[in-house]
Amino acid sequence: MLKKEIPVIWLQGAGCTGCSISVLNAVSPKIKNLLLDETVPGKRLSLRFHATIMAGQGEPVIEVLSDTQKQQKGKYVLVVEGAVPTAKKGIYASVGKKGKKHLTILDTVVELGKDALLTIALGTCAAYGGIPAAHPNPTKCKGVKDVFIENKVNTPVINIPGCSAHPDWFIGTIAAILLERTLELDDVLRPKLFFGKLVHENCPRRADFDKGKFAKSPGEEGCLYLVGCKGHYTYADCPLRQWNSGLNWCVKAGSPCMGCVEPGFPDSTSPLYEKIKPEDIEKCISTNTRP
Ligand code: SF4
Ligand code: SF4
Repeated sequence: MLKKEIPVIWLQGAGCTGCSISVLNAVSPKIKNLLLDETVPGKRLSLRFHATIMAGQGEPVIEVLSDTQKQQKGKYVLVVEGAVPTAKKGIYASVGKKGKKHLTILDTVVELGKDALLTIALGTCAAYGGIPAAHPNPTKCKGVKDVFIENKVNTPVINIPGCSAHPDWFIGTIAAILLERTLELDDVLRPKLFFGKLVHENCPRRADFDKGKFAKSPGEEGCLYLVGCKGHYTYADCPLRQWNSGLNWCVKAGSPCMGCVEPGFPDSTSPLYEKIKPEDIEKCISTNTRP
């Protein structure tokens, strides 16, 4: 018997909607099970707002935002996908209009963030700024946590980065929340359950790295270190979990890991196809920081 429904508001800022597409293509459970069935026994999600997939439009759906905030204070989960543009009072990203005024993502994230049970920053753009925040970042895009700090919002934030984020990382986090399990987070607010080990630790090409068998260009056999692999300082379980229903992942497809889950991506992991400097690797390993 259903005991509890958790309302979810899903906002989209500066991004490509890739994280929505990724979650919509979830395999186990499928998205219809996630939205319609009990996610864990006795509990299910109630997705109240998602601009890409909801049927409603116009002011009635905008009112859903304020209604949820008032009626479900402290009980709803706010999911943010995409970075938050902060230049010119946030006018570069709008949820819609209320009367004649644009409801910016910046104001909406701050306003709904204040009263949420917790906020999930889904994808690297929402977590750390990602591609929209890359140099020169003309719209001054930021991640949700930075926006919360600047606006004195104390609601807990869980970062689920990735370009795009893996559907399992999102669904597994939601399941842990519904089960009221404590999720241990790392120093950049990622669940250690999914981001606790380096890609390099579990990579099937690790034996090639140890033997010094290196690919000279992407797609060749051998370790991809010389063609820019960032697996040395990238924390994610991609080698074990893999993508597209466990079918493949970047390195298996012949592409170096680009460090897409790391703060500062893509600036801090560029040039994407050039070897990282050994001193950067040493620095990362010894200090657990990123170059
Ligand atoms: S391909 Fe990348 S992650 Fe795999 S062993 Fe080489 S450097 Fe490490
Ligand atoms: S292997 Fe690296 S670039 Fe590919 S999805 Fe995982 S973290 Fe991102």
